[in-house]
Amino acid sequence: MYKSTILILGGGVGGIVTANHLRKNLPEDYKIILIEKNKEHSLAASYLWLLVDKRTPSQISSPLKMLVSIGVEIIYEDIQKINAEEKFVSLSNRNIKFDYLVISLGADLENVELQKDSKGTDVYSFYTLENSIKLRDRLKNFKGGKIVVMVSSLPYKCPGAPFEAAMLISDYYKKKSANAEASIFTPEPQPLPVAGPQLGQAVIDLLTSKQINFYPHHKIVTVDTLNKELLFENKNSYAYDLLITIPNHKAPNVVIESGLTNESGLPAGQAGWIPVDRNTLETKFENVFAIGDVTTIQLPGRWNPDRPMNLPKAGVFAHSQAIFVSDIISARLLNKKHPKDFCADGFCMLEAGEELAGFAYGNFYGEPNPDVKLKQLGKIWHISKVLFEKWWLAPIGFTKELYKQLMTIGSKLFGVQIKL
Ligand SMILES: Cc1cc2nc3c(=O)[nH]c(=O)nc-3n(C[C@H](O)[C@H](O)[C@H](O)COP(=O)(O)OP(=O)(O)OC[C@H]3O[C@@H](n4cnc5c(N)ncnc54)[C@H](O)[C@@H]3O)c2cc1C
Repeated sequence: MYKSTILILGGGVGGIVTANHLRKNLPEDYKIILIEKNKEHSLAASYLWLLVDKRTPSQISSPLKMLVSIGVEIIYEDIQKINAEEKFVSLSNRNIKFDYLVISLGADLENVELQKDSKGTDVYSFYTLENSIKLRDRLKNFKGGKIVVMVSSLPYKCPGAPFEAAMLISDYYKKKSANAEASIFTPEPQPLPVAGPQLGQAVIDLLTSKQINFYPHHKIVTVDTLNKELLFENKNSYAYDLLITIPNHKAPNVVIESGLTNESGLPAGQAGWIPVDRNTLETKFENVFAIGDVTTIQLPGRWNPDRPMNLPKAGVFAHSQAIFVSDIISARLLNKKHPKDFCADGFCMLEAGEELAGFAYGNFYGEPNPDVKLKQLGKIWHISKVLFEKWWLAPIGFTKELYKQLMTIGSKLFGVQIKL
């Protein structure tokens, strides 16, 4: 007989970290169950390297069970229903009751609507492993021309990814001496708006130095795949040879149907996602927490008084929220001191090609605006990202612990706080 059951929904970044930290925090008479529909896990941050042939699919994937601590029960099933009020979750043929629930079901992706029959046209994406493989194969035989990276709508996960993709692809063709011109179109006013104008300008300068065109304030209306033309809300149009879209994001249906999400009619980015208390990450139901991409958290600070901002959807926050929520749940269960409020410190290694990366870090709950700084472009941040990848994908055990130690020492040396 278990003292309590903690159910974790979703075995992606947030779910894996929650399961492992809870298992470390709690004695064995507390049951921890992780429910995930896929047996294989892949690291999304590494899809960018896969695109430019620097990784193979097997190098960036692992069976989920290798990444999860012994003592966590994993159920591989598609979650059908979440009843937060009566505290149970339905699978295809049974219900599972819980005392505590952590929802980390991420975002579902939907392709931008195409005007003509999309078959055989040059429209690709890199937001899933499968799509990244298809794009990698297309990039290999693409002979040159106009490549567009287009943000379909807001919000989207990893606000640095479109810029990283454009820079890596541009670098890839430079090495091949192919004549490829990369452009980025986005409805945003600048790159990574949440990080502020200075950082945005630094990214624009970087793009300019690589001859990558950047078109802010461009909201797509129509993708004419027959004529290979993009038509935007501001009436501009652009002809492409190869289109790479950042798909539309939405909460998984099972989450929308659970009644946990915000209603429509709210500012962009908030409707349709789970609102949580930004200090505790608890939903409107006691002991039901939500973390990662499925949530919406309005930031206390802003750059423009008229424009509220939300915490970006990024693995780094899913990760730190998972550690935080594990500590809150453990404290409640073991009657220990409650941890301090969630602090939203985050970082991002922005891959710039040529094995260089930038490093942005800071407090996203900063006031009057997020306090985000940028370190100079360097090889060290690229190496740090590689080290993180190795740590994340290493099976639980000695090697993983070794990478963790290396990263902890490295982060101390460079004055950056990282909690793994
Ligand atoms: C190309 C790319 C590059 C990125 N690079 C970075 C980066 O450098 N740094 C960074 O911080 N972030 C990065 N991200 C973002 C990061 O991957 C996500 O923010 C992170 O994975 C969010 O974690 P999560 O736990 O909320 O969701 P996920 O990791 O997406 O996990 C959700 C899980 O829920 C499962 N699930 C969904 N519905 C169901 C259901 N009904 N039943 C069962 N299981 C279900 C899914 O299969 C999935 O495994 C990148 C993303 C992409 C696409």
